[in-house]
Amino acid sequence: MPTIGIDLGTTNSCVATYRNGRVEIIANDRGNRVTPSYVSFNDEERLVGEAAKDEATSNCENTLCEIKRLIGRTYDDPIVQSDMQLWGFDVINDDNKPKIPVVYTNKRMIFCPEQISAIVLEEMKITAEAFLDETVTDAVITVPAYFNDAQRKATRDAGKIAGLNVIGMINEPTAAAVAYGLDRQSKEERNVLIFDLGGGTFDVTIVKITDRQFYVKATGGDTHLGGEDFDNKLVNHFIEELKQQHNKDISKNKKAINRLRLACEDAKRKLSSSTKAKVQVDALHDGIDFRSNITRARFEDINHGYFKRILETVKKTLKDSGLIKEDIDEVVLVGGSTRVPKIREMLEKFFDYMELKKTINPDEAVAHGAAAYAEFISNNNDHNLKDFVLEDVTPLSIGIEILGRDMQVVIPRNTKTPTRRWHDVRTAHPEQTEMGVRIFEGERALTKDNHFLGEFTLSGIPVAPRGQGEADICLDINSSGVLHVFAVEKITGKSSELKIDMGKGRLLPNEIKRMIREAEVFRTNDEELKKRSKAMNLLEDLAYNIKEKIGKSKTSKLKSESMMGQVTEMLRWLDINQKEPVEMSVLDKKKEELEKICDQLSKN
Ligand code: AMP
Repeated sequence: MPTIGIDLGTTNSCVATYRNGRVEIIANDRGNRVTPSYVSFNDEERLVGEAAKDEATSNCENTLCEIKRLIGRTYDDPIVQSDMQLWGFDVINDDNKPKIPVVYTNKRMIFCPEQISAIVLEEMKITAEAFLDETVTDAVITVPAYFNDAQRKATRDAGKIAGLNVIGMINEPTAAAVAYGLDRQSKEERNVLIFDLGGGTFDVTIVKITDRQFYVKATGGDTHLGGEDFDNKLVNHFIEELKQQHNKDISKNKKAINRLRLACEDAKRKLSSSTKAKVQVDALHDGIDFRSNITRARFEDINHGYFKRILETVKKTLKDSGLIKEDIDEVVLVGGSTRVPKIREMLEKFFDYMELKKTINPDEAVAHGAAAYAEFISNNNDHNLKDFVLEDVTPLSIGIEILGRDMQVVIPRNTKTPTRRWHDVRTAHPEQTEMGVRIFEGERALTKDNHFLGEFTLSGIPVAPRGQGEADICLDINSSGVLHVFAVEKITGKSSELKIDMGKGRLLPNEIKRMIREAEVFRTNDEELKKRSKAMNLLEDLAYNIKEKIGKSKTSKLKSESMMGQVTEMLRWLDINQKEPVEMSVLDKKKEELEKICDQLSKN
């Protein structure tokens, strides 16, 4: 059974598979090797990829993008709050989980981010199945290295909803390092810095590569920094310009903002090769045809703060790796936003004018590495992957709250994974039979400043003097960077293993099951719609064919007029029903009617 690697990007996604000793990037049905991570709903159908992106301006309320920015986050997260302002679709609060309402087939439906990401993942699965001509379920999905536990688990849940068996998750820059390393195998040991700046996330990873062995030394980044932030800065710049020049505030007009954003992204891309770009949007707001320009220098100035943050992250990651910049042998660029000239210039300068490696395709490298990793873990013993070793690290420290306030780190960040660490906890009072344990993720000294992962209560502790009631908490991180927690109660010497549910804010198993069922219904509906649309097209072809034959036939005038009348009526009916999905049984009857005319024609 084949395996696939999926790069589930904020802006674009890409799928690859490993076949005949090499990785193949799989093109979608439009022939493109990357697919926009867009999903759009309308009165008749659900669209994914390019078709969905095409709806971004005409149906912005129901066209969803950048959902990766929501995944694993809470509604009150300031990042969610600020992103929402610039999206054409709505985000609502459901028990502090962000959810997205849309209108689909004239019904209001509410989706959680995992379901939308699942639709994109499913599209990638279908793309792979069409290419490989067989069912594909086993997949490796990539995540930004800096994704926290909640974001990783939510991504894995999205995979399940999409009908995938997620055999592993790999950090995006690590996957790019694998692609880079496998491409130019060399016995020589090299320290490679992968600089991955995509649409929504930024990762820096330093990997020691020797032949087919990959040892991540440190990783750093920002799960909310990428090309879309540059676009948003431009949008805000032009909102201000409109205020000044036309005395109009378009900030509440979601449709206008959406259109302006597309124009800004376009201008940003142009600025990578020119020093000036136009931003033009017809009838943007209150009949104003917006016309403006932006220079590369102005763009760089507007985004200066982001560029500074990017370089600081590079420096911090270097420090964490225990290396100095002179130890770095190669800097590899990954992600669409590494095309921004200022970013390249800044990196070149920092690394003393070392030539940056642009040889791997920044849009495909992540999926490429993920496909090789999928092949490796599915044990298909390909000789090109023999001796393959991959050792990654944890991006964030994980710890336990002590004294109701302080963070006691159990697994420091940049610890090699998989890893398992034990931590001893003791009762604070005599007669204490229960102990509450709270787990956090992050680098701050106080737990209130870190990310809360979950809590549990150890109960049934035998009565013992203060400090003598004792339990061991185990924090276990697997090779996908996903955390499992359990506790062993030691007081009576009996070790009871408790599985801790860290699911707060996450989908519960029965919710995932329900969503899998819903996704199947969507899939069936989509297939049915495609079948009907194909049947309608065939019917139309047949009708035109018959029309042509009637014109050429030698049948009596009366008969041909009657037949032509029937065909014209059929074409009119097809025209009227073009938008409405017609039942297959009705289409079958219509086809029979046309076939009867065909029969009559052939008898004459
Ligand atoms: P990725 O997530 O790697 O697919 O990167 C997507 C991001 O790269 C988007 O924000 C794009 O606008 C950005 N991007 C793609 N091409 C260019 C370019 N030529 N110049 C600047 N940014 C680009």
